Amino acid sequence: MSIVQDQVKKVIKNVFVAEKENTLQLSEILFTDTIKAVVPLTEKKINWNEISTKEKREKFISEISLQKDEENKIDGEYLLLIPGGVDAHVHFNTPGFEFREDIEHGSYAAACGGNTTIIDMPCTSLPPVTCKENLYNKLEAVKKRSLIDYAFFGGVRGNDFETGLDIKKQIYQLADAGVAGFKAYLISGMETFTDLTKKEMLQVAKWIYETGKPLLVHSEDKNLVLSRQKKLQLKKRNDWKAYCESRDVKAETEAVKTMIDITRKTKCKIHIVHLSSKEALELVRTAKNDGLSISAETCPHYLYFTQKDFENDVIRNYLKTAPPIKSTEDRGALWQGLKDGTISFITTDHAGCNPNLEKSSNNFWEIYGGIPGVEHRVQFLFSEGFLKGKLTLQKTIELLSCNSADYFKLRQKGSITTGKDADFALINLWSSEKIEADKMLSKGKYTPFEGITFNALVGDVYLSGKRIIKNKNQCQSELLGKFIKYNN
Ligand SMILES: [Zn+2]
Repeated sequence: MSIVQDQVKKVIKNVFVAEKENTLQLSEILFTDTIKAVVPLTEKKINWNEISTKEKREKFISEISLQKDEENKIDGEYLLLIPGGVDAHVHFNTPGFEFREDIEHGSYAAACGGNTTIIDMPCTSLPPVTCKENLYNKLEAVKKRSLIDYAFFGGVRGNDFETGLDIKKQIYQLADAGVAGFKAYLISGMETFTDLTKKEMLQVAKWIYETGKPLLVHSEDKNLVLSRQKKLQLKKRNDWKAYCESRDVKAETEAVKTMIDITRKTKCKIHIVHLSSKEALELVRTAKNDGLSISAETCPHYLYFTQKDFENDVIRNYLKTAPPIKSTEDRGALWQGLKDGTISFITTDHAGCNPNLEKSSNNFWEIYGGIPGVEHRVQFLFSEGFLKGKLTLQKTIELLSCNSADYFKLRQKGSITTGKDADFALINLWSSEKIEADKMLSKGKYTPFEGITFNALVGDVYLSGKRIIKNKNQCQSELLGKFIKYNN
């Protein structure tokens, strides 16, 4: 019965689908679990300027001759329809540190935020996803608990070098099992997932190169950070400035240089996670121009805040993450990096906690570093990127969905074209919403974006042709999310 129903073709009418730059096409989408056709409803393409205000949009709608006899079609209400967001960097912590975040809360928050796929990090699970047995353990733990589709990164940790495990074999087996890439740290604060030395990183890159998958690296230089931290702590400094001094731009650039050197030597695809500074961005830009296999992502917090925001004691502790937020100049450069393609996509590095327990210390070193942002990413980029004229509509959607789906070979994702999974979200660009922690769906209800208004809303969300979110509510009794393998 359900198989037959799944194959019944559905139609969503009256949606704007983005095309090149800032043009759109009023369309209807025919779909089952995959997209069957994207049918234009008017001959003429529309420029965003023609519908950019509520009034212009009303006028546009009033001039369209509506067809009758369409009761069996879903009304898209003249909203923008985008491919479901792909957030390629989240910490949902199942199984493991679930007192901070878990797959149920995380995937629900992600879905309400317009995402239909996440890629979860290996380091905040217990056991961490460092071998195929641990991956299978994780797959079992998340089964029937996710509202949206998920892929996983494998991890390589220093602990396994110490105990003499066959890391090469672990990498190959994880690659065969379908992980989307491998995560490692040049500096880590986790006992259960320690960092690699530069020498180990080089060796690991050689092995990962053989798998064809990318190596994702937290890039801050350990020696620099720890030596400074020690000096600052001896001086009894435990304020936010001390933390930022210990992890400054140089800490990031030194690590990025290390990784550029490694990709030059090994040809391994290297991806710098959560890039935060102008100088590091320029290193990536030059390396890319030299033809090296290097890429980078950044996150909404680096694009919105500067260190001046640490002076605001309401959000100070919420804003702590690593690497720390930088300056106005760095922030501007990151926007430019998005625009010119140096930065490939936007992730959230979603990492929540119970703020009462772990975000309340007066000692900044002790505060948990992590921001839960998975539900704000899509509306953030439409509001602060597209609607403020920093990015085109096409670029905004690429940064939210297409580019990470491409990079991590999630071939059914990231595009509104025939044959792809019918994963999409409706976006209302004519309404606004004030961000309030109380309304958050993540387990940890806090955000540095508290009180900020975004001029974009996420509406209904569809996964594999089924509506999973309506009015921020889950509308399927079953959790339909499934494991998506990297597909070479
Ligand atoms: Zn992370």
